[in-house]
Amino acid sequence: MLCCIGESDPLQAIAKLKELGVKATQLCPWTPEQLTSEYAAKVKAALADAGVTPTTQFIGFPEESYVDIAAVERTVGFLWEEKLAERIETAKKTIDFAVAVGAPHAAAHIGFVPRDKASPKYQRLLETIRELVDYCAARGLTFVFETGQETAEEMREFIEAIDRPNVGVNFDPANMILYGKDKPIEAVDVLAPWIVSCHCKDGEWPTEEGKLGHETPLGEGQVNIPAFIAKLKSIGYKGVLCVEREGGPDRVGDFLKARALLEKCKAE
Ligand code: MG
Repeated sequence: MLCCIGESDPLQAIAKLKELGVKATQLCPWTPEQLTSEYAAKVKAALADAGVTPTTQFIGFPEESYVDIAAVERTVGFLWEEKLAERIETAKKTIDFAVAVGAPHAAAHIGFVPRDKASPKYQRLLETIRELVDYCAARGLTFVFETGQETAEEMREFIEAIDRPNVGVNFDPANMILYGKDKPIEAVDVLAPWIVSCHCKDGEWPTEEGKLGHETPLGEGQVNIPAFIAKLKSIGYKGVLCVEREGGPDRVGDFLKARALLEKCKAE
């Protein structure tokens, strides 16, 4: 993933991907200043020059915090009522950006889906996401849910409630563990019909109430990466294996080790 390579400037990060021989990348959320058609043209040209294909464009917002469960509940996705109109606007601009650079998917953490389906909060989230899914559909894009903040069954139920064909899942096996929500290998089966992309990320289960678990370099956490790749193969997954590394002092070193591990798993 572009922002996981240890370069803060996206154009330099794309040059770094070229150096590393990376052929495809997901794109992280852009700052409000970057969300323009001029900047999208620059990113598109840089990707073409580097021979890197953009796959999934992530939607995100400046105030989002992943420091603990309470912060995620408060700040992530489309549940913050006062910011909802602004966020829908940003999401649509990000979808336009995805179209401009040629990414076929727009993805987001939508926030914790309320459990009470009759609640106004649940209904509002459903309507908001439908609006964005339809905005994607009109532009030939798939709207993609990143896994993590709910069990696979809960995500499946919400996707079915959205009731639109252009929806998918970006399956992040580590998030299921980090949020203490589900067993990732089994969860692949539940979400298999919708998985269009994935994050190859690893981590350890939370040990403290209200906290997230710890992310680790790929292969060093509790996902069981060889079993995850074997499971993706078994469902016929043909998408990109996208390395995501959100912490640690040596992003490039961790990426290179992750790529070697994935190549070994793919060959098995
Ligand atoms: Mg992820």
